[in-house]
This record gives sequence, structure tokens and C-alpha cells, in this order.
Amino acid sequence: MSQPRSDLWHEWSLAAKNLFFPIFCQECGRRLLTDENGYFCATCWELAPRIQRPFCTVCGRPHRAAVGLGTRSNFRCGQCFTVGEDRPVRRTYGAARYEGVMEDAIKLFKFHGKQRLAGPLGELMREFAAQELECERYSMLTPVPLHAVRERERGYNQARLLAEAAVPAFPNAEVVCALRRTRPTRVQSTIHDPRERRRNIEGAFEINPSAPSPSGHVLLIDDVVTTGFTVAENARVLLEAGAETVDVFAPALAVLRHQPPAR
Ligand SMILES: [Zn+2]
Ligand SMILES: [Zn+2]
Repeated sequence: MSQPRSDLWHEWSLAAKNLFFPIFCQECGRRLLTDENGYFCATCWELAPRIQRPFCTVCGRPHRAAVGLGTRSNFRCGQCFTVGEDRPVRRTYGAARYEGVMEDAIKLFKFHGKQRLAGPLGELMREFAAQELECERYSMLTPVPLHAVRERERGYNQARLLAEAAVPAFPNAEVVCALRRTRPTRVQSTIHDPRERRRNIEGAFEINPSAPSPSGHVLLIDDVVTTGFTVAENARVLLEAGAETVDVFAPALAVLRHQPPAR
């Protein structure tokens, strides 16, 4: 069957662009072909450390092979074993570990203006969601907000771009920017003292009065979940304003320094 003219034209123009303005893989430096994702070659992107079963049903961290040996069923990790149901975030899901090509992708996406990375990152999220999340459950995908000043500087909110890229996997949900940041905060990953991290984030979020109020089951979207303080604080505000439950979903989850979900 012949290809539609517009597809052929698109491929031809990509090939021509690539000929005159070659692009290279950010990881291995190899020249990219037109059908690769624009930042990483297929070989490097394949190495994104995807999170696979079994992983923790609360914090989303994968179990070590020795612990999860022989099972495809998810179960709680040792750190989450005793947490009660009163925590603000019900479940956390990450599509990949925040390591290697994934860490590089998130940093380019967030700090170096490479907003088109929302495409491949969103694809990774949709694939993971189709396999591991109850996609029909959610009525809203809500991005973690940036402070207005930082969003203006950056030109975009990366979490919002991810929510928009992921939402086609959720048949009953729409993207609702239900939250806003009341004051600028420091980047959490630059703070090492947990008490200081909590102080940095506490009271930093409120309901966005110009968006529909949160209701039903909300899926909070962030770029990377590290200690979980930020998403827990967001979830608290959403629950107070009427959300039934809040789960968290990010393309990347920091796995090395394992901490129990913030309460
Ligand atoms: Zn490569
Ligand atoms: Zn856990």
C-alpha cells in the first residue's frame, strides 16, 4: 500500500533537515536517524532503566531480584510495610529509575530547555500506565506546579507537558492545573537535611482558583520523584479541597536512597 502524501513529505523533510543540520545522540554522540526520538538513539533509549515487576505497591520502587525472585506480583517493600492508610499519597508509580540515560533525559528536559523530550518521556509513561495503572480510575491528571516566576523563566512547566503527553492513556481523565505555588522554593535535590526539605515545601502550594476544583481520583504528575515531600504536600492540598484519593506518577523515580513515603 502506498503511503499518504503528507507522511512521505514529512519523512522527506526530516531526512533533508537531518542532512543539512545533523543531530547527535546526547548519550553516545552517534548521528541520529530521522525515525529516532530527536535526542537519543534507539540503542541508548532502550537502556532507560524501566521499572518492572515486582515493585512496591506503595512507593513504586522495584524489589531487588533476590527479594522478588520468582514472582510477578507486586508487594510492599520493607520500608512501606507498616505505613497506614492515612498517608496523603495512596500510591506512587515511576516508569523508570532516575539513573543513566533517564537522569540525563530529565535534566535536559528540565534545565536545558529541551521541552520536546516530553514526547519520548510521555511515550514511556503511556506504556507503563497501560500495563500497571488502573487507567479508567482517574478523572484528573494534575501537574505539580512551578512558581509563576520560574515558569516564566523556563518558558514551560515540565510536569504539565508530561501530563499532556500521558493523558491519552487515561480514558476518563483530563489535565487540570488544580494547584499553584504560593512562593518560590529551592530545588529539593539541592537540600540534604530532611527537616530543611520539609520546611522548604510546607505551605508552598494552594488551590488554583481559576481551575476546576479537584474531585474524584486524582493522578498527580511530576518529572522525578525523590523523597516524596513535594508530592505529599501537593496531595494534602488536593485532598483538603475535595479529591477522593491522590496517586503520583512520574517518568522517573529515584531508587538509590530509599526512603519511606512522606507522611
Ligand atoms: Zn546513543
Ligand atoms: Zn515501598
